[in-house]
Amino acid sequence: MTTLNEFSSCVTQYDPQALPVTAAQAIVRQWATPVTAVEHVPLHDALDRVLAEDIVSPCDVPAHDNSAMDGYALRSAVLEDQGATVELTVAGKALAGHPFGGAVAPTACVRVMTGACMPAGCDTVVPQELVACSGETIRFPANAVRAGANRRLAGEDLPRGSAALRAGRILRSSDLGLIASLGIGEVPVRRRLRVAFFSTGDELRSLGEPLEPGCVYDSNRHTLFAMLRRLNIDPLDLGVVRDQPAALETALRSAAASADVVLTSGGVSVGEADLTKQLLQTFGDVAFWSLAMRPGRPLAFGRVWSGERPGVGLPALFFGLPGNPVAVMVTFYQIVREALLVMSGASAQPVPLLQAASAEIIRKRVGRTEYQRGIARRDANGQWHVTPTGSQSSGVLSSMSEANCFIVLAHERSDVVAGESVDVMLFDGLI
Ligand code: AMP
Ligand code: MG
Repeated sequence: MTTLNEFSSCVTQYDPQALPVTAAQAIVRQWATPVTAVEHVPLHDALDRVLAEDIVSPCDVPAHDNSAMDGYALRSAVLEDQGATVELTVAGKALAGHPFGGAVAPTACVRVMTGACMPAGCDTVVPQELVACSGETIRFPANAVRAGANRRLAGEDLPRGSAALRAGRILRSSDLGLIASLGIGEVPVRRRLRVAFFSTGDELRSLGEPLEPGCVYDSNRHTLFAMLRRLNIDPLDLGVVRDQPAALETALRSAAASADVVLTSGGVSVGEADLTKQLLQTFGDVAFWSLAMRPGRPLAFGRVWSGERPGVGLPALFFGLPGNPVAVMVTFYQIVREALLVMSGASAQPVPLLQAASAEIIRKRVGRTEYQRGIARRDANGQWHVTPTGSQSSGVLSSMSEANCFIVLAHERSDVVAGESVDVMLFDGLI
């Protein structure tokens, strides 16, 4: 068995004392294995689920050539045959769902509405507003339409046998409509990833408990619950665990027994790290990292098992997140999120970044990636500007609620002067 320590020490830039974010992301990605089980769910339950197999179109979409306008369908040869003005006899009518069944003579046309099947032999539609009508005859300039105009071809949206959607896609609203347009009502999706989580700390109190001096309410568990739900993951809340080896061990083992991934918060910084470290080494394969990032420096990553030593019992991937509430969110989005998406079977795309002009000087140390909380806005000229929220302390969770983006300051970057361009990761659609 390759251990995490053996593996991670082979990664370029590996330095457990100051591991660059990109190196940590690369190691984590290597250890994320997708769940394989597939469920078939009704179309409406497929929203936000991960598609397990390609959806192949069983038919042409649209099924028939049809009119893109209200007008008159005709044979395009007539545009050349008749000189400057074309004159045609209206042979009948076709509406969406009511085709015209008859034959169309070379100098005839058919009144068609948008979506109506093109009558046999017709390949062009002249829009009604370009036509002069008198009785059963229409007239229009020959140069008013080109051959083939205003006609949608069968299969132009999706030809039969083509992949309408690829496996690994996280299904969105348009996808549900697309699947329905193929006449498919049941969708193969990966089973949901199950993630167990708990908070550690003697000072933590749960909602409903009185707050004694020196204690704080446990907020991380609720942030984690919400962040997992946003990714459509099954959250398993294991409560607060005291800073005691026996309690921690029991919690970790039962978490590994019941979930694919275990997330904890707190207890991985200096001081408590030794306790957690010793414990995890007895029945896990866990590396303790000091990430070159802020906030979110301490992070434990590896695997744990439900049994009494590594390799015994059921395995789970393990992330020991820092305790500070903002650090929990930053490490979740920058390190954990992609692994959870990969394990869910999704073809994870990087979160898009915008470029914005910084409204202020931002102090930044070279050699670590920083994620400041910012407020981004777009001015009347379409230029984005961003201002850091007041306190950037990793304990100030209100900065996350006040902000609408992370200001991402890359590893090599130094101080930012006012007006300089910075990367911004918007919260909308993310958190
Ligand atoms: P730790 O990493 O355990 O040393 O915790 C760092 C800081 O985060 C301390 O101030 C803790 O009280 C705080 N903290 C840890 N866990 C939580 C939690 N679940 N909810 C709110 N604050 C926490
Ligand atoms: Mg603690």
